[in-house]
Parts: sequence; structure tokens; C-alpha cells
Amino acid sequence: MRLIIVGAGITGAACAYTASGLGAQVTLIDAERPGRATAAGAGIICPWTSAVDDPAWYDFARTAAREYPALIAGLDDQGEADVSYRRVGALFLAGPGDQLDQARQRIAARIAGAPEIGEVSLLDDGQAQELFPPLRPGAAALHIAGAARVDGRRLAAALVRAAARHGATIRTDPARAATLSCRAGRVTGVSINGDLVEADAVVAAAGAWTGAFVAPAGVTVNVVPQRGQIVHIGLDGADTSRWPVVLPSATGHYLLAFDGSRVVAGATREAGSGYDVRVTPGGLAEVLSNALSVAPGLSQGTLLETRVGLRPVGPDIRPLLGPVAGVDGLVVATGLGASGLTMGPLAGAVAARAALGLPPDLDLAPFDPLRS
Ligand SMILES: Cc1cc2nc3c(=O)[nH]c(=O)nc-3n(C[C@H](O)[C@H](O)[C@H](O)COP(=O)(O)OP(=O)(O)OC[C@H]3O[C@@H](n4cnc5c(N)ncnc54)[C@H](O)[C@@H]3O)c2cc1C
Repeated sequence: MRLIIVGAGITGAACAYTASGLGAQVTLIDAERPGRATAAGAGIICPWTSAVDDPAWYDFARTAAREYPALIAGLDDQGEADVSYRRVGALFLAGPGDQLDQARQRIAARIAGAPEIGEVSLLDDGQAQELFPPLRPGAAALHIAGAARVDGRRLAAALVRAAARHGATIRTDPARAATLSCRAGRVTGVSINGDLVEADAVVAAAGAWTGAFVAPAGVTVNVVPQRGQIVHIGLDGADTSRWPVVLPSATGHYLLAFDGSRVVAGATREAGSGYDVRVTPGGLAEVLSNALSVAPGLSQGTLLETRVGLRPVGPDIRPLLGPVAGVDGLVVATGLGASGLTMGPLAGAVAARAALGLPPDLDLAPFDPLRS
């Protein structure tokens, strides 16, 4: 089976890894678009605190989070030992009113179905700051032991390398965007600068650009870009490698940390941004003022960089995932929105199985890629 995957973000990379592992002849193509989401994403894996009331989304996100350790172990077995995934825990900070209690009840109700949440404990004054020293003093918090973080760039790169070792052909080149090619209701491959690369199936994992990519098939995938600006701060000399994720309940913004004395403060959620990938003064001010109000100890750090990513956002919060009705051989995997680094590995694996004609591991009905 010749399979072309368009998009080497977390979704396409995971798809290539799974499909090549299942024996498909995979070609992975990416035009390295400015604003590709995986290169900017924060990397928080903690779906259990979400107030989103959509059982299909939650089940998918929960399953994706549960499967992460097995994915990381599998990559480790194949020589990809350091992909930056770490279970560092999360601090859910109290906001006005009783949000901490609400979150506690929400998580308590979810623990039976998701034991990977781990221990959940209320931290008193000072304990939270011990775990994340730049925090303002006296911040009460719920500690969720099972939360993790991952650097999307490193994980996607590791998946691509592992796919290549399984025999996948990797074609990444900013000058060569792929165009879908179809004839008589089935895909024939993609063309790159006018040259047709033939395939039996094509997975469209092109993030916020997926709608334009599938248009030649005469179908509409409703996905739009939502800009996120996110700031990286250096804290010279600090061992940040095990600092927890910080989720302030009042703002929707967050903090997390990686090895190398690096703290990440995110992020804007700019609906209607289009494909504009500029860093704006307003975006920077929003991210920094939220970060410093929660963690004033960051104020003397070093501003290292601002990343900008375009989240692929569908008509609702659920992924757009599965075979496209009426176009043989076309599978879509996008619409992962603000949770794509959590859900991307699972979405990619599901898309790989669908493209190879294998039965799905889960009910795809809620994820119809053509819904509006
Ligand atoms: C600021 C920010 C913070 C985030 N934080 C988190 C978080 O903490 N936790 C979480 O779970 N998720 C987070 N996300 C969401 C997550 O990053 C995205 O949902 C996810 O990365 C989407 O991955 P993708 O592979 O579907 O798309 P992308 O990463 O955008 O990849 C799509 C790829 O397709 C390629 N492409 C497009 N068109 C073509 C074409 N015609 N030919 C060839 N190639 C093409 C592009 O170059 C691109 O590389 C965040 C996102 C942002 C922006």
C-alpha cells in the first residue's frame, strides 16, 4: 500500500510512524509553513481539568493522554530516548470564588475512568511556590500528579526519524507544497510543482491548511487558523527540569518549564487571525502581564523568543478525523485546536489505520471530517 501523508506536524508525524510500522510504503511531505502549530505549541498534557462538556472530546483526549507513556516507551526502544516528555505534575491555581473546589470535584469524578490522573492533593500556602519558585507567595493550588509536558518539535522530529527507519520517505521542503490529485471520486496522489507522486491513499494532516489541501477533491473541511503567541523565558542557573505545569483557573493562560532553565508562558488565542504569523505588541503584553501576575519571580528572566503557531480549529472542539465520504482513499486528520499535542499521536495513529483499511479502535462517528 502506497500512502502519502501531507503535514509533518505532530499528527502527520505520528501517522507516518504508525503506518510505516504497519508495513505501508509511506511518503511524508511537508512544506514547512510559517506558523505550523507543532513548532509553537506549549506541550501540556492534562485534559482532565478541562471544563469542556463534550464526552466525545473528553474520551478522545483522555485516551490520548493515557497512551503517551506507551508511545514514549516504544520510541525509546527504537533509539529515540530523549523526546522531552516528562510527568511533572500540574498546579491548578485558585481563582475568584470556588473554582478550586469545582475543579477538584470535576477531577474527582474523572479519576475512576482515568487513574493516570494520579494523586490529587490540595497544597497550602508555600507548597506550590516550593514546586514552582517564581510563583507569587500564598498561591493555593490543587496538585495533579499525572500531568505531563512534551516539546512538540522534539517529539515530531523523533517520530519522523523512527518512521524513516521503518522505510518512510521524508520530503520536507518549503518551496514544494503538495496539491491533492483526484480522478473519478478517488485520490491518485499529490502533485508537487506539477510532478505527480502516485499513491493508493492520502492522509491530509495539514493542520490549519487542510481545507485548502482537500479542496481539489470537491469537499469542504471546516478548519480555520487560530493564532497563538507564546513566550520563552530563560532563568539563568535555575534547574527547571521538574517544575510542574501551572494552570491559573482564572485566566486560561499557563506556565510550564523544560530542561535548560527555560520557562514557557502562554498563550494568546486569537480567533479570526487568518494566516498572519506576526508577533504583536498586544499579544506579547497579554502573555507577559498574565504570566507576571501569577509568577512575579519571572520578571528578571531573559526573554529568549516568542513563537507563533496557528492552531487548526474546527466547527466544534472535536477532531476532524477519518475517511472522507465520497472520495476513496482520502483520510483527514486535523481540527485538534488547543489540545493537539495531547491528541495528535492518537489522531495520527487512527488516521494511519483508516488509510490502510484497518478497522478503527474507536467509534469515528463523532469526528466526521465533513461536518459543519
Ligand atoms: C501557542 C500554542 C500553544 C499550544 N499549547 C498546547 C498544549 O499545551 N497542549 C496541547 O495538547 N496542544 C497545544 N497546542 C495545540 C497543538 O500545538 C496543535 O493542535 C497541534 O500542534 C496541531 O498539529 P498538526 O500536526 O495537526 O498541525 P501542524 O503542526 O500545523 O502541522 C501541519 C503541517 O502541514 C504542513 N502543510 C500544510 N499544508 C501543506 C501542503 N499543501 N503541502 C505540504 N505541507 C503542508 C505544514 O507545513 C505543517 O507542518 C498549542 C498550540 C499553540 C499554537
